Parts: sequence; structure tokens; C-alpha cells
Amino acid sequence: MMPSGHIQIAAVMGHPIAHSRSPFLHKFWLKEYGLNGSFVALDVTPENLQKELRALPSKAFRGTCVTIPHKETTAQIVDELDESAHAIGAVNLVTVLPDGRLRGQNTDGYGFIENIRGHGTWEQSRKHAIVFGAGGAARAVVYALAQEKFEAITILNRTRAKTEALTASIQPAVKAKLQVADWAARNDVLKDADVLVNTTSLGMDGHPPLEISIEQLPSSALVTDIVYTPLATPLLKAAMDRGNPTQDGLGMLMHQARPAFKAFYGQDPDVTPALRQALVDDIQKTHT
Ligand code: NAP
Repeated sequence: MMPSGHIQIAAVMGHPIAHSRSPFLHKFWLKEYGLNGSFVALDVTPENLQKELRALPSKAFRGTCVTIPHKETTAQIVDELDESAHAIGAVNLVTVLPDGRLRGQNTDGYGFIENIRGHGTWEQSRKHAIVFGAGGAARAVVYALAQEKFEAITILNRTRAKTEALTASIQPAVKAKLQVADWAARNDVLKDADVLVNTTSLGMDGHPPLEISIEQLPSSALVTDIVYTPLATPLLKAAMDRGNPTQDGLGMLMHQARPAFKAFYGQDPDVTPALRQALVDDIQKTHT
């Protein structure tokens, strides 16, 4: 716990920043736990990123969340990286250390796993995961699945070169066998999957759906989508229709913010149905 009477300040940096849900989440928890803290959204251009990050200690900020398009560049700027940020090559949480140095972490993979842990046949079978996409979020998801001791992870992306770059950089850090398949083979690789993850932006509001037939997927396989607008993406609807366990992407968003809140304000916050409902209402309000 922080000393009372002393306001803890933290931020989220991105460009643009209006889309970020971080202020909503952190302000919800500050109120929930009655903490004396503030959280601000900062629109920081790529040219100003280094200057703004370096100014955090002198402005007495505890740290900052980092969002699009700064996650990769921040990994180059901070003084030290935790293991996951190093392996993923991207940072979404910067904390100011007592000596003023900056530490970069990546909590996206943590949020992803916390959201799906315990679902489907998680405890019985964690052999083969399939990941669609090879963008920034995919890197965090693949690394996190490998940490959860999956034996093999098959990654498919429209642009195959990005899949190969992802596996080349993450494979040395993990035991799981990372394998690449062609995007065109996405209906045919599903036979023995325990988990299927969409990390592409397909299925998101304003984007085309992910075109796929999941007929060959075992009915016990967990299907999860990290897109959360809409909550029930076409992929999740198709999985629900045939009785597969499913999990939407909103939990990842909530759980990835927990280590940041703990680092800024000293409290490990809970992800509750009330928070989820408040977030759903806020997303609906800003989408209409
Ligand atoms: P990104 O780095 O821009 O990657 C986008 C991915 O989508 C790439 O794999 C890209 O393939 C693929 N893609 C885009 N359009 C496509 C199309 N028409 N056909 C096939 N593939 C297509 O984005 P990101 O940061 O990884 O984010 C991806 C999604 O995850 C976004 O919708 C984001 O909102 C969501 N997300 C959710 C959370 C959460 O907390 N739930 C966290 C992070 C991200 P190419 O490489 O071929 O372009």
C-alpha cells in the first residue's frame, strides 16, 4: 500500500489515444478501492515518445501503460526489460524504478492466459494450440501459450513472412515447437487442436469476418478471439453453434491491466462481473 495523502500518478501513452480503455479500467479500480491516485491519457507522437518516457521520473509518475503505435519502440528506449518483453520485443507497461531508471514489461500474454485459464479442457490437454495472425498481439499470445507448456503451436498468417519472423525470434526463448502453416491451410490444421486463437483483426467491427470452416476442430477445443468489439465475433458464434467452449477477448483486456494497476497503486485489483458490465456499457456508448 502507498502512503495515504500522497497521490500516485500514472498514464497511458499512445497516438491517437482516444480509443484506449486504460483510463476507464484504472479509474474504475481507483474508485472501487478508494485509492488516492490519478490516471491520465497522453497523446504522444512517435517523435516525442523518448522525451515523454524519460520525463516520467521528474514528473513523479509511477509509470505508464503504452499502446499503439509505441509498444515496439518503447522496448528500445527503456533501461531494462522483463523476460516476456524481451522475448516478445514489445512493451505495454513501463514502471519507474526507485533510482529513476525505466523498466519495460509486457502484460498482454499474461492477460490472454488469465482470461482462458481453466476453460475447455485446459487441465487435461495442453498439447497443440493454433494461432491465427502474426501481428503484435500474436507475438504476446504465442509466447504466453509456450510458457503454459503447450507442446506445439501452429501459427498461420496472411503474410507468411511475418509468421516466419515471429517464430524465428520467439523460438529460441521457448520449449514449445513453433510451426508455420500456410494461411490457405487454415481449415485443415485443426484436427488435433486443444485451443484455437484468433489474433487477427478479422471479425472486428468494420473489418471482414475470418473466413474459416471449423468442422475438423475437436468439439472439446477452446475457441477464443482477442477481438472484443463485437464480443461474439463470427468465429466465436460458429464455435458456440457446434458446442465448443468459447471465451471472448474482453477478459484479456481487463486482466492485462492488473499488473499495471498493482505497479502504479500497490493493489492487485479483481476482475469482476461489475467491471465487465461497466466496460461493456462504456464500449457500447462510445460505439454508437
Ligand atoms: P497488428 O499488429 O496490426 O496485426 C494485425 C493482424 O491481423 C496481422 O496478423 C494481419 O495479417 C491480420 N489481418 C489484418 N487484416 C487481414 C485480412 N484482411 N486478412 C487476413 N489477415 C488480416 O494488430 P495487433 O496489435 O496484433 O491486434 C490485432 C487485433 O487484436 C486487433 O483487433 C486488436 O484490437 C486486438 N487486440 C485485443 C487485445 C485484448 O486485450 N483483447 C489486445 C491487443 C490486441 P498481415 O500480417 O498479413 O497483415
